[in-house]
Amino acid sequence: MSEMKLAVIGAAGRMGQELIRTVQASNGAAVIAGAIERSGSNALGQDAGQLAGVGALGVKITDDPLDIIAKVDGVLDFTVPTVSAEIAGLAANARIVHVIGTTGFGPEHEAAIKAAARHATIIKAGNMSLGVNLLVAITRKVAQALDADFDIEVLEMHHKHKVDAPSGTALMLGEAAAEGRGVALAETSVRSRDGHTGARKRGDIGFATLRGGNVVGEHSVIFAAEGERVVLSHIATDRGIFARGAVKAALWGRGKGPGLFTMADVLGI
Ligand code: NAD
Repeated sequence: MSEMKLAVIGAAGRMGQELIRTVQASNGAAVIAGAIERSGSNALGQDAGQLAGVGALGVKITDDPLDIIAKVDGVLDFTVPTVSAEIAGLAANARIVHVIGTTGFGPEHEAAIKAAARHATIIKAGNMSLGVNLLVAITRKVAQALDADFDIEVLEMHHKHKVDAPSGTALMLGEAAAEGRGVALAETSVRSRDGHTGARKRGDIGFATLRGGNVVGEHSVIFAAEGERVVLSHIATDRGIFARGAVKAALWGRGKGPGLFTMADVLGI
């Protein structure tokens, strides 16, 4: 099959630049055919490859997704929820692959993405790394095996620039724990604690968020009982793991037909 033509949305962002480097390293499986940034960004007009440090690619960064999306096989999108929901609609019109790594979605964005997946091939995951997706599967199993004598807490730390909390990954882990235990996360989750909170309620799934420095992403799921604790952890030290997962997802989605998929589908776990 010919190389897959991909556009990167948010091309000047931390993940956008990592995605450009990863596509360039894909040995011809995929190629950067478009790069989009927000209107007003000072990256507009720059060469996407030069900005990402891989040398000129002859692809100028523009703020016009319509024109680009008509010319590519897929888009890699690690931006903000409103943008991803809008791009999903464009991907649906163009019947192409849309890989969404963005986190922090509200119900209105989720609904728009679900509707777009009737025509686009959407692969959406709060974390695209193999290790974290394995951690999600293991968390579900451990939560299934342990009863509510084990208090579940999800702890995460990210760099100081991150704008949403808890992280998309922490929420994925909380969902997996709730599924394993056969409860709804919406009814059991405790997203923050402050002041005189009273004692912990049996069955709660707690979240704690740390922010600072340049931490790429660290997550632990703690199962704490009287006298013992099971701790499952993942530590990301390089954004490349998310970008490699995203490119793998795009290649996997090619020719798949419309639908809303996760990284677990891509990785077969
Ligand atoms: P970032 O702020 O460095 O990059 C986001 C980019 O999107 C910015 O360059 C911004 O200008 C651009 N953007 C904003 N509006 C736009 C528009 N209308 N059109 C085009 N581009 C636009 O952030 P980041 O650290 O790269 O993270 C981006 C998102 O990806 C966050 O939601 C983060 O949580 C998520 N993330 C997910 C994974 C995963 O594996 N799923 C991994 C890392 C980060």
